[in-house]
Amino acid sequence: MATEQAAITRATFDEVILPIYAPADFIPVKGNGSRVWDQQGKEYVDFAGGIAVTALGHCHPALVEALKSQGETLWHTSNVFTNEPALKLGRKLVASTFAERVVFMNSGTEANETAFKLARHYASTRHSPYKSKIIAFNNAFHGRSFFTVSVGGQAKYSDGFGPKPADIIHVPFNDLHAVKAVMDDHTCAVVVEPIQGEGGVLAATPEFLKGLRELCDEHQALLVFDEVQSGMGRTGSLFAYQYYGVTPDILTSAKALGGGFPVSVVLTTEEIASAFHVGSHGSTYGGNPLACAVAGAAFDIINTPEVLGGVNAKRERFVKHLQKIDAEFDVFSDVRGMGLLIGAELKPQYKGRARDFLHAAAHEGVMVLNAGPDVMRFAPSLVVEDADIDEGMVRFAAAVKKIVG
Ligand SMILES: *Cc1c(COP(=O)(O)O)cnc(C)c1O
Repeated sequence: MATEQAAITRATFDEVILPIYAPADFIPVKGNGSRVWDQQGKEYVDFAGGIAVTALGHCHPALVEALKSQGETLWHTSNVFTNEPALKLGRKLVASTFAERVVFMNSGTEANETAFKLARHYASTRHSPYKSKIIAFNNAFHGRSFFTVSVGGQAKYSDGFGPKPADIIHVPFNDLHAVKAVMDDHTCAVVVEPIQGEGGVLAATPEFLKGLRELCDEHQALLVFDEVQSGMGRTGSLFAYQYYGVTPDILTSAKALGGGFPVSVVLTTEEIASAFHVGSHGSTYGGNPLACAVAGAAFDIINTPEVLGGVNAKRERFVKHLQKIDAEFDVFSDVRGMGLLIGAELKPQYKGRARDFLHAAAHEGVMVLNAGPDVMRFAPSLVVEDADIDEGMVRFAAAVKKIVG
């Protein structure tokens, strides 16, 4: 077998990987800041950020240092033994948020799975076993385990896998009347992304989140914020809830938390946390020393006025470029989002073609994302240089011209 020697190319993906993704036709091999290079040495400006993950760009020296030094110290203990990096990171999160207790997991999905199980268990043990209704929103995205796709509001992800977990109801996002109509004392939780990411980069209105808080209080239900995408500085606040001034009972974060190292967290109060006991839930890797050392280094950099305060100036720069592109090519019907989570909705005549724009952009040397078939999404590093924004947008404009022109 010559397998070992055979060149690794994009075709290898189709030979060996289960086809749940259709990755771009190039393979990135190296990154530095907001630039990435592929196997052929072609350079890209990275506005995708690994889907809002590499919040400090690629190979940030402080993260590399944290990874190296922890890598030479202690990699893994399991949760049979706790570890210093996890405890340090836990302290930082408690000091900077509403949280009194945190628990680490490995992905956004697992953080949400934990949050939903905690909410259900809290309601069932503190109130009644019949208090199990979860209210969630159309087009929401909460992960890919069976519970989290079921709470998510996109049938294309949840259907076709047999009977779903029961007592989950979906209503339109930003529609408080619709929530009121289904809210009752059997509701255990309302689950919401302060900004729907995958669902099209749609921010909640402040009135909506405030209204949810009031309804939850009225019916002794928990308010769960999924900040897997919106958290860790993405909006210019450490967490979006702080910008809105609406405090949830449970909050999940992941993506940018580890800056590219898989790690996630659930934040909650002492009272809610006390519903769980030894053995209620668990994870072999959750809070692994390597993950928490890297996340701790990322946290120290992101949670500073320099980084958080720079986010909205960078957003302005992006939006100006997008408006200029729109003025020239007439492609966007809306430019929206918050901070460095930016959505540009395509005009009706380009509906369904977001992936075409994405591929054209990669061809021109800029990595961007879509959020559904009709919205272009930008989720770059929070410390992306102005020169990278300008160069990336020149390339994106060239891609738009190719499709529109
Ligand atoms: C990405 C995402 C998830 C899932 O996170 P994974 O790490 O892919 O499991 C959950 N919720 C939101 C809001 C997300 O953006």
